[in-house]
Amino acid sequence: MSALPVPPLRFTNTLSGSLQPFEPLDAARVRMYVCGPTVYDFAHIGNARPAVVFDVLFRLLRRCYGPNAVVYVRNITDVDDKIIARANETGEPIAAITERTTAAYHADIAALGCLSPTHEPRATAHIADMVAMIESLIAAGHAYAADGHVLFDVASDPSYGCLSRRSLDEMIAGARVEVAPYKRSPQDFVLWKPSDANQPGWDSPWGRGRPGWHIECSAMSARLLGASFDIHGGGQDLIFPHHENEIAQSTCAHGGAPFVRLWLHNGFLMTEGEKMSKSLGNFYTVHDLLAEFPGEAIRLVLLQTHYRQPLDFTKAAIERAKRTLDRFYLAMADAPEDSGGAGGDEDDLIVLDALADDLNTPLALTRLHEMLNELHRDRTPALGARNRRRLKAGGALLGLLQAEPEAWLKAAGAPAAAQAGSGGVNDAAIEAKLAARAAARKAKDFKAADAIRDELAAAGIVIEDKADGTRWRRA
Ligand SMILES: [Zn+2]
Repeated sequence: MSALPVPPLRFTNTLSGSLQPFEPLDAARVRMYVCGPTVYDFAHIGNARPAVVFDVLFRLLRRCYGPNAVVYVRNITDVDDKIIARANETGEPIAAITERTTAAYHADIAALGCLSPTHEPRATAHIADMVAMIESLIAAGHAYAADGHVLFDVASDPSYGCLSRRSLDEMIAGARVEVAPYKRSPQDFVLWKPSDANQPGWDSPWGRGRPGWHIECSAMSARLLGASFDIHGGGQDLIFPHHENEIAQSTCAHGGAPFVRLWLHNGFLMTEGEKMSKSLGNFYTVHDLLAEFPGEAIRLVLLQTHYRQPLDFTKAAIERAKRTLDRFYLAMADAPEDSGGAGGDEDDLIVLDALADDLNTPLALTRLHEMLNELHRDRTPALGARNRRRLKAGGALLGLLQAEPEAWLKAAGAPAAAQAGSGGVNDAAIEAKLAARAAARKAKDFKAADAIRDELAAAGIVIEDKADGTRWRRA
């Protein structure tokens, strides 16, 4: 348990629809689960939003309860009909698709500054847990086997619908339920389904088959976090039916033990003012965006809107975010270095206060801007060093401003691909030209010195002559 000063935390619980104080079941082991990707293609920017939002929550909890006291589980769904369909379309083996896209997801999410979760279970490694949970549900009278399938009997669970607070008719419409002869009732959902010879399958008491998506999360969270835990997160689109079904499965398999105390959901993401779609040309994968923009600028855009609000993601906003980060890093580079010693555990408190109030990232960013303004106003060594330190400490809670300012400015936060492109000028070439310019100036050949400056400016390199030498950055 951390001895640092910690403000009380409160969050909007989807279960109640209201702001509630957060009290973990066990402050020495705070447990959260977030639904992870189904790995059949590159993650798009909508997939990145929950990864970044819940990364900030993970950072906040670690700060409040101690870095070793928070267990964060984010699964990988590596058995799913979308993966099977992709393999059939392309001829690429399923294992190759899931391995390749899992690696791409890891690379993309790391570039957005997300910490690794504590555990990242793959569904295919937990089939036995899923089969065992389905057997418990059948034994308790909450599920039935029919025609190679096992279905959850929704009518057996009187609290079904507690999360989405929908009527049965709305739920049936929302789930786009399939009416099938083996179902007792149309809203019953699949826990297990049969696999043919060409589909991935595992032996089970109901024949060779594979799990439904919802049971995967219930089984993996129970295995790694126990029957009851603190926080479950995901995108708003998962509330129904996925999370509603997780609650039904988990509580009914565990004798009615409450499943999750706090449900958090991030809002929808639009791009360029429209629903993202390939035909509208506004479908952005994280992979493609990272070839054009620094990951930190993409992350900043995702945090500028409160997590519960809808977010309109635009490329223009990433451009602006990049320039904002340039201003922060420029000010930090100009601020006096910390003389050491004076650093405090409380440097991040005003950012911490903002995040403690329902993860208010827009307010946290306002706090960083206030520090930046103070840094511009007062460059005395003591206050300058303090504000530089506070920016770094507050930024750490948001996963921002952790680069070395000089390194950011020289790269202009650009992805390596952009710098290596044709016409890109590498660092060594710039240093060589600056040395030639310094020599020309020393020889009072100002015409040659200015020509070098103009040449660098044309290549997008800004140079500034300071008392202690020449500094350069990419514009
Ligand atoms: Zn899930």
